[in-house]
Amino acid sequence: MVSSSLTTGYAGPVGDQLISIYERLLSAFGPQDWWPGDSPFEVCAGAILTQNTSWENVRRAISNLKNKDLLRPRAIYELSRESLAQIIRPAGYYNVKAERLQNFVAFLVDEFEGSIDTMFSKGLETLRPMLLDIKGIGPETADSILLYAGELPSFVVDVYTVRALMRHDFIDENADYEGVRSFFMDHLPADVELYNEYHALWVILGKNFCKKTKPRCEKCPLSGM
Ligand code: SF4
Repeated sequence: MVSSSLTTGYAGPVGDQLISIYERLLSAFGPQDWWPGDSPFEVCAGAILTQNTSWENVRRAISNLKNKDLLRPRAIYELSRESLAQIIRPAGYYNVKAERLQNFVAFLVDEFEGSIDTMFSKGLETLRPMLLDIKGIGPETADSILLYAGELPSFVVDVYTVRALMRHDFIDENADYEGVRSFFMDHLPADVELYNEYHALWVILGKNFCKKTKPRCEKCPLSGM
């Protein structure tokens, strides 16, 4: 069951349905303990590296940085683009991802003297548009950084979430990222723990049941909803 602190503050029947879905998913899959990482900066780096690849590949790229003692904003800032690209090569699209990672650390160093705590002290409403202004940082990455590294209540939306919501007629095919994010944030309390777990559960659902070509509805925890 959702804790009492989560059952206050959400709005109306849609909020009730979203909480009900959350409880079913949590009961079926259990807590996911996201996001793996030893520090907020490592979580930020993982959020940037994870696009279009498996987590195992991200883990290998991050291990390479750790093994060379380079998983620090200033160290990445001072590396040549080519060197960084080779180190994070296991993550795939390594030239593009090296550029994105360096764009992020340049922002962190230039605006906040490399302090991730100072960056997050800006708060959600100020920091989110700043992150979205960084070249190569899209809304899913920005919200992952805010939620999982900064523990700020910004709901993360991904293709798995959109697909399941569409199949259950919560949203239509024209819904964009901001619309889906608002759908959750307008109907759920601004609770970091809830947002953290809920996004992770959508991913597990999408990977194992609500697949793109052939959904496995008969065994799915959301069957009949
Ligand atoms: S697999 Fe079927 S029941 Fe499960 S979320 Fe997708 S559409 Fe719904």
